[in-house]
Order: sequence, then C-alpha cells, then structure tokens
Amino acid sequence: MEFYGNDVLIDKILSGVRVVDGCWEWQKCRMPKGYGIITGVTKAKNYLAHRISHEVFIGPIPDKLKVCHHCDNTSCVNPMHLFTGTQKDNIRDAWNKNRMPVGEAHPSSKLTEKDVIDIRKRFATREKIRPIADDYGIALGTVREIATGYRWRSVGGPISKPRIKR
Ligand SMILES: [Zn+2]
Repeated sequence: MEFYGNDVLIDKILSGVRVVDGCWEWQKCRMPKGYGIITGVTKAKNYLAHRISHEVFIGPIPDKLKVCHHCDNTSCVNPMHLFTGTQKDNIRDAWNKNRMPVGEAHPSSKLTEKDVIDIRKRFATREKIRPIADDYGIALGTVREIATGYRWRSVGGPISKPRIKR
C-alpha cells in the first residue's frame, strides 16, 4: 500500500486529531509515552501515528531513521512538527532541550562524571567553548551550564563563574 498522499489515510489522520497550540494531538489509542497508534492501515499490524503521518504527508522514512518531534509532544502528528533523525540525533535533541535525566546512573546519559569534571577544568582554563562542545557532542549552552554548576553540580571539578559575553 502506498502511504504518500493516500486520501483514505489523510482523512483517517485528520479525523483522529485535535489541534492544540498548533500540534495535532492524536485522540485515539496511545502508547504509554503518548505516541499515537493508528489502526486499520493494513490488516497485518497497527502503526505509530506520527510515523504514518510522516509517510502520508512528507514521504517514506529512510531506513533506520526515527521520526522525531520538534515540539516534544509525542502524541502530535502534525507533519510540520516532525523530522527524521538517527537515535543519536534524538538523544542529542532531548539533551539540548533539557529533557534528559541527569546523573551518570541513567543509561542514556551521554557524559560520564569524568567528562563533566574534564569539561569544568577546560572551561576554567579559559578554553573556548566551541571546541569543548564539539569534543563531547553537546550544545554550547550545555557546556556553560556544566561549567557553572547549573547541571551536575554534585559531580565535582572546578565550578566557574559565567563568562560575560562581549
Ligand atoms: Zn506538535
């Protein structure tokens, strides 16, 4: 079955949502984390609604890529709020948006406690932020937040005062 531009599926999606602040929130069956489930697309199985929305309105999803939300609203199926990325992009996106739990105990956390201390040391020696951020694959803001103790204060290492932007 061709999903892209499929009228039956377009109707099915549009009749399944409620628009809230620009998001198309799926009103039917949902997964525990809020992802919508769309039934009746094929006889064989049910699908995640946001993935079907991507296929129908934007086009096929490249192999192994995830469909992520710009809006962080897992139940949203508005194609304008969707983008494809790798699992790594998804984790980075979550990290940049401060949605990740902090602390090394969490399995998805990208940085180890040693990394945090190293980042603080490098920042404290007046190293530029960009290369530090690039080395760890994190946002510039995250480097600042770590260095100034806004995040992971308990881990240790030298806490710096915020640098004044000129
Ligand atoms: Zn949305």
